[in-house]
Order: sequence, then structure tokens, then C-alpha cells
Amino acid sequence: MTDTMKAMLLDAAGKPLRLAEIPRPEPGPGQVRVKVAACGVCRTDLHVADGDLKHTKQPIILGHEIVGRVDKVGTGVTHHSLGDRVGIPWLGHTCGVCSYCHEGRENLCDAPGFTGYQIDGGYAEYAVADAGYCFSIPDGLGDVEAAPLLCAGLIGYRSLRMADPCKTLGIYGFGAAAHIVAQVARHRGIEIYAFTRPGDTAAQAFARELGCAWAGGSDETPPVSLDAAIIFASVGSLVPLALEAVRKGGTVVLGGIHMSDIPAMPYDLLWGERVVRSVANLTRQDAIDFLALAPRVPVRTHTTALPLAEANAALDRLRRGDLTGALVLVP
Ligand SMILES: [Zn+2]
Ligand SMILES: [Zn+2]
Repeated sequence: MTDTMKAMLLDAAGKPLRLAEIPRPEPGPGQVRVKVAACGVCRTDLHVADGDLKHTKQPIILGHEIVGRVDKVGTGVTHHSLGDRVGIPWLGHTCGVCSYCHEGRENLCDAPGFTGYQIDGGYAEYAVADAGYCFSIPDGLGDVEAAPLLCAGLIGYRSLRMADPCKTLGIYGFGAAAHIVAQVARHRGIEIYAFTRPGDTAAQAFARELGCAWAGGSDETPPVSLDAAIIFASVGSLVPLALEAVRKGGTVVLGGIHMSDIPAMPYDLLWGERVVRSVANLTRQDAIDFLALAPRVPVRTHTTALPLAEANAALDRLRRGDLTGALVLVP
């Protein structure tokens, strides 16, 4: 009899996830199988489930903020051993031969594989991953608390690096990524100005609790002119607002994988050598750097844990913005 596992399957975009009992995946050469202890719920999962992002394997198991323990090792694995606590992020595979891989920019690889998108992810009891793309998780954080580091933390960290150097930083959309970035930025002595949906006083209070210098609605003008801004919300109309808030020479970093159309805007908003740039995926070096930095800050994540079978409710909560911090599924 084959061993089985519970998993939440996305059969097609726009459909709810379906709880199923399926065969446990077997690790191939160079791969490990991980018994999932926790898997964060990321906005990207919502974009895949809703069909904003195409080219999804079907059916697919979502989830790319996986923390678990290695429970089976494929041939040729030298990175991790049985029982190791590891994290599996969004970047599941790169080709190693394209020009981007050669330039050390594997986040832009021409033939990548992403976890929970083309490769089955962590909304399940087990997940298989290439061992070279799994990372040791620092001690001092529980499985649930560590899960959001794997995407919200990593993408937030990469976004912050693109915004640096800055002394004043605006963050638009105060969700999972923002609440981690705010801690890292404060650790570096950066003043944070948090922008939320207008009227979202809970998110604004949360931002102030985390030490943000100011919190308000995205329709408000911050009290100082900002050196840089990061937009995590998937709302294109925030781009001209953020450009208006940053000073000459400032950068607006777009940290999400999907965004609604950016409206036409006067060139004056970009004039003065302001820069708008996106952040795409992560490199393995980002993961190594950030997971070493996180305990030194130290990053403390605010999480709400839900059972795996409630993945649809978790996605709904994220869609409504009905939470502070990060949602994490526990099988
Ligand atoms: Zn490549
Ligand atoms: Zn993500």
C-alpha cells in the first residue's frame, strides 16, 4: 500500500481548493521530502488561485513559505540530512545555464520553477524540493513563526535592499511582508511611514506598535518627504501616490508579483530622477543573507495559525484584508 497524505488541491483558477488524499511524493535525485510543520499563506497564492497569474501546473498544491523537517532524502543530496529543520521558498529551481543564472541573477532565470506554482507546494502534509533550494531555519523561532520569513521576509528584504540607502521609507500595504520589513528597517535606523487602506485603523495601530514613525491611509500625505517607498499592495493606482511622496532621486519599489494597471500620470511625478522598479523573486543568496540577519534583528512575526483544511477560509481572509501580520496553515 502506498503512503498517502492530505493536501489542498487547486484544480483550476477560480475554484475553491479541494481537500484530497493523494500519494505522498517521492524525492528524486538531489531532492528531499519534507514533513510540513507550517506553511504561510502569501498574497501570491491568492493571485494563483484567482487566475491573475497564468502558467500554473494543474492541479497544483499552493504554498511557498514551508517549514518542516526532512523525512526522506533522494540520491546525491549533500545539503541536508534526515530530521533537519528546513524552509522551502518560492524559488524552487533555476536552469543554471541562462545568462541571468551566469550573472548571479538567478531570480530572473529564463527557465525557473516556482514552488506552489509550477512545483507542488506546502498546503499539504509533505512536500518535495530540490535540496539546493532549501534553507536551514534559525533557532529561536517556532515553525509557525518562521514560515512567513520564507517569502514575506525574503521578498521584503530584497525590496528593502532596492530601496536603500534611505533614512525615511514609506511602506504601502501593511501586511505580512511589511511587518517584517519594518522590523529590519528599524534595526538599520530607518524611519518608517506606513500607508494602509484608508480607514484601516487596525493596520495603522499595528504599524505604530511595530515602531513606525507614522501610519495613515494611502490617500494621506506623510509629514515628511520620503527617501524611498515600497509598495506591497497589488494596487497600481498607488504608484503615482508613492512617487508624489518621495523626494527627488527617490526610488519606488514594487514588491508584488502582480499589480492592477498603473494609471497614466504626469511626467512631473517621475521627473527629478525618481525611479520606479519592480522586485522579482529571490536568489538563494538573498535567503542565506536574510535568514542569517533575522535572528540578529531579531525579527518577531505576528501570525495566525489555521488548520490546513481551512485554507479556503485563510485565502478569503487575506482577500478581505481581515488580519494583521501573517496567516499560516498547519497540517
Ligand atoms: Zn537560468
Ligand atoms: Zn510569496
